[in-house]
Amino acid sequence: MNKNLRKVVIAGNWKMNKTATETKALLAEMKEKLPQTDATILLCVPAINIGTAMESVKGTAINIGAQNCHWAKNGAFTAEISADMLNDFGVKYAIIGHSERRQYFGETDETVNKRAKACLESGISPIICVGENLDEREKDITKDVIRVQIEKGLADFTAEDMKNSIIAYEPVWAIGTGKTATAQQAEEVCAYIRELLAGLFGNETAQAVTIQYGGSMNAKNAAELLAMENIDGGLIGGASLKAEDFATIVSCAN
Ligand code: PEP
Repeated sequence: MNKNLRKVVIAGNWKMNKTATETKALLAEMKEKLPQTDATILLCVPAINIGTAMESVKGTAINIGAQNCHWAKNGAFTAEISADMLNDFGVKYAIIGHSERRQYFGETDETVNKRAKACLESGISPIICVGENLDEREKDITKDVIRVQIEKGLADFTAEDMKNSIIAYEPVWAIGTGKTATAQQAEEVCAYIRELLAGLFGNETAQAVTIQYGGSMNAKNAAELLAMENIDGGLIGGASLKAEDFATIVSCAN
């Protein structure tokens, strides 16, 4: 499959930012500034603001997503949120295994796998994050790290599950640091991820999967990154909190 036939997904990760009132204000600005596009536009907001955000974007092309999701259907998991709860709000996408979840909340490839499968069972596309840290890049073991994250994170996935999932390649050293991977560095790893997917699910499936790059993507570097053959979108933190910058990134995807 040609890059042009894959779904382009430009996703914002608002992390733990914006109150409900601020969410409404920023979404109002986004609605004004975002250009017409064939790309899927997604903003993953804090869970408590999903309802407010859904109301605010009603009738527009903006999708509202989640930043995490528990693997159990329901039960004694205080403060957690299930895929069915997200689905009931109309959520179609959830970020799973973000490096901050792995770093600060003990997320592992095994829990990433369980959470992603729970999403798929409830009709939600997981955006499964993988990426090496600085030490691993300097030791030249990036591909080994990515291979393990992909193999374990996607354990027992069917080809259909894979087609309903998105992979986000996010080098940890580039997240929130202002240090972006070069377009060549990002493309090399995204191409490797597609190669791994081809080995696991066959080439037809691998060619259909949207692979995003994330890590200090901004209004200045987005065009070059998004032009790469195996980069089909972005997962954007800081720049997704500024309507003007996010709008520029979306326009680069056109
Ligand atoms: C992220 O949170 O996934 C991210 C890529 O953040 P930033 O764009 O700020 O580096």
